[in-house]
This record gives sequence, C-alpha cells and structure tokens, in this order.
Amino acid sequence: MTTALPDLLRRVTDHATQYEARAASRPVSVAASTDVLRAALGGPLPARGQDAAEVLDELVRGAEPGLLPSAAPGFFGFVMGGAHPVAVATEWLLSVWDQCAALHATSPAASVAEEVTAAWLVDLFGLPTTTSVGVTSGCATANLTGLAAARHRVFARHGWDVEAQGLVGAPIPRVLVSRACHATVLRALRLLGLAGQIRMIDTDDQGRMRLDAFARVLDDGDGPLIVCAQAGNVDTGAVDPLAEVCALTHVRGGWVHLDAAFGMWAAASPRLRPRLAGLADADSWATDAHKWLNVPYDCGLAFCADPDAHRAALRTHAEYLTVAGPQHRDPVDWTPEMSRRARAVVLWTTLRHLGRDGVVDLVERCCALARRLAGRLAAADGMTVVNDVVLNQVLVRFDPEPDRSRAEVTAAVTAALQADGRAWASPTVADGEPALRFSVCNWQTGTDEVDTCADVVVELRARLRHPGALVLEETP
Ligand SMILES: *Cc1c(COP(=O)(O)O)cnc(C)c1O
Repeated sequence: MTTALPDLLRRVTDHATQYEARAASRPVSVAASTDVLRAALGGPLPARGQDAAEVLDELVRGAEPGLLPSAAPGFFGFVMGGAHPVAVATEWLLSVWDQCAALHATSPAASVAEEVTAAWLVDLFGLPTTTSVGVTSGCATANLTGLAAARHRVFARHGWDVEAQGLVGAPIPRVLVSRACHATVLRALRLLGLAGQIRMIDTDDQGRMRLDAFARVLDDGDGPLIVCAQAGNVDTGAVDPLAEVCALTHVRGGWVHLDAAFGMWAAASPRLRPRLAGLADADSWATDAHKWLNVPYDCGLAFCADPDAHRAALRTHAEYLTVAGPQHRDPVDWTPEMSRRARAVVLWTTLRHLGRDGVVDLVERCCALARRLAGRLAAADGMTVVNDVVLNQVLVRFDPEPDRSRAEVTAAVTAALQADGRAWASPTVADGEPALRFSVCNWQTGTDEVDTCADVVVELRARLRHPGALVLEETP
C-alpha cells in the first residue's frame, strides 16, 4: 500500500506535470459526457479501502475528461481567471501544513499573513487606511459580509441593535439595488432578512445604475438605507456612477456596498482607476482573488470602511475560543466562516511574487486584449459588439438569418464554439437579450489566443450562412 505522503506527492506531481504538458494540445472544451463521468467515478462506496496511489491514478483517469479547462489561456468563459504557478504551489504546501485560519491561536502565521496582505490590498486598491478586511471563499460570501456590516450600521443609526434584537419590530429599511446586480447580492440580502425591502433601480444599456431612477426612489421612506452598487458588471464590465451614488446615499445617512468581484482590480492601475471614480467613497467592498488575481479556487475578499460595524456584525464568541486580544487578529471575527483554509498565505506569495507592477501589468494587459478582441469581432460581418469595452468583458450579439432569430444564431454560435475546442466562451442574457460573452482574465492569455478566438467566432458565424456546412443543433 502506498500511503506515505512523499510518495503520493511525487505521484500527483507526475500527474500534474503531464496535465500541464498536454495543456497546449488539449482542446478548450469538455471531453466526457456526464454519463461517462458517472460510470468512471460512480458505484457504491467500497467496503474495503484501496491503495492511495491507485486511487489517485483512477481519479485522474476518471475525472480529467470531465474537467473544464478554465485555467487555459484560450478560455474566455464566465469570469474565471487561471492560476499562477506560485499560487498553485503555495496551495499544495498549505494542504500539507493544514492550518485552520479561524483564530490567531490556531495559526499565528495565517493570522499575520492576513494582517499583512490586508494592508497590501487596502493600499493597492486605494481604500481608506483604516479599512478592515475579511478573507472569504469568494465574492458571494464577501457580499454577505459587507451587507451584514451595512445592516448593523444603518439599523444602529436608527437606534436598533439588529444583532441583539433581530428584525421583528425593527424600523423598515430601504434597500436600493441596481437591476443589473449579481445574483449573489440578492441572495445575501435574502439571507439577511432584507428581501422584502428591495427596490430595483433601473439601469442603462450598459447595466449602469441610472441616476435619475436612483434619485426618484431615494426619498421614499426614511428608514435605514442600504444601497448596492457595482464596479464591473458581470456582462459588460460597466461601473455604476459611484461618486454620485455614494454622495447621494451618505447625505441621507445610508451605506453603499459595492460588488466589485473583478472590477476592483482595475483600481490598482493608475491608467484604469479613473473608470472607477468614487470607488473609495463606498462603505464596504466585495471582490475576488480567484478571478482576476489568478489564484486557484477559492479566495474572496470583503473590505469595510467601518471596522466596528464589520466586527459587530460577524464577531463570534464562545468560551472555548481563546480570543487573541486587541494585539492580534482572529480571522473568524471578519467573515461568516469559522474553520477554513489559510487563504491569505496564497495571497501573500502571489502578491509578493507579482508586486504592484505585476498586478497592474496583468490587469492592463487583459483590458488591452479585450479591446483587441472587440476590435476584431466588431470588424467582422454578422455580429455586433454591444458593450463599451471599459474593462475586460466583451459582449457580442449576432445578426439574424432568414430562418433564425438573433437569439437562435447566438445560441448556435455559442454551442459551436464550446464544442470547437480552439477557444471557449459562455452565453448570457444582458439587457433582456441573449449574447455571447468573453471575459479576458487569465495571466497566460496573449494576442495569439485572442486572435484565434476571434478567427474561430468569425469562421463559425460565417458557416451558418452556408447551411449543411456545420451541424449546429448537435449539443456538445
Ligand atoms: C463572480 C461574481 C460574483 C460571485 O463571486 P464568487 O466568487 O463566485 O462567489 C459576484 N459578483 C460579481 C459581479 C461576479 O462577477
């Protein structure tokens, strides 16, 4: 039986090396159907154990064909990002260390890594220096964290202690949310008991909150006020008018929470930062490191300009937990999770490896590549780039054919692209209409991948005009 860790690590190193070596020739698509994966990985739980090395070999055989190559440079789907080698290597080490980053007492090193990286990021993003930080599983949890802090503060301003008293009998809050907000913002509000008070604010064709629509509802009622804005619309990359939204909210005693899952990283670039004017005026911010910073899943970040509200909303007390005291950081006080991986250690190596210049270069390069992709697609027949490419997102709609609607053509090109293997992108519905969406956020993506992607999309679109040349109804 091979069970010794060094042997197994060598084994997975071999597997990982081979996976990497085949990366350049592997199609950017999923090879196996779900049925094939179920057959390979399924069956009852074995009564007896099996050699660990054999199990790893079986895993690789069974699971690899079902991997979506989202870390590949030719992958433009969702908003995903790849994984820097230094971050992957740190993750491996972190698993061996197996640190629980709940308390200072359970991992002094993780606690200090959070302290240090938190200060780096606050500086990188140009947030107020006293901003508090929580390291979360992703932006969804970061949204929940920021909105929990918001709930604490706005109710406190109305003389209500929401952590002690709950919501029954509380002043009626007002929650103003961009109609183009991410689904996880709505879920966070639901979990916080605020769903019934949501007012959706209309957006423009780029998914930006419309100030006239915002101003119209701002003074409906005078209860605790929370506003959810975004920097980096998940389809278009657009940024809400943050300075105006924050100013209008603050004079009314309200709180602005900003979902900046990927958009936040543009704040690191002096060139792109003007597109996020007003960013630092918000009260809480949520972002991801597993998207644009290119650390492996999972890692998100919650920031709060009001550390007292942040801590009041999330701090955990139990007698058995040794509280570190004011000189030390207990990570558990800043996120909804308790036991968790020491994600900040991965942030520490990745940020230290890249440096400020490396982060700026990564973000600016992706945005330049997105503009290049948009330029090529815009110049082609039969399609329109429908967004202003302000960041790293490109949104395309296809012209109808005599026998197919716009939506049908978009669906057909999307299916053909996902099956093609030379590039991969995913569909969305933006402003009520289907579109094909490209997100450039991989550290390895270069002009070659972008040009190939554009060529393939143009080719697949053109083939639609010659019926029979392409079987588009076939699902991959
Ligand atoms: C991805 C994304 C989220 C959710 O983040 P997770 O990391 O998946 O939890 C929230 N908002 C926006 C704008 C996003 O792009």
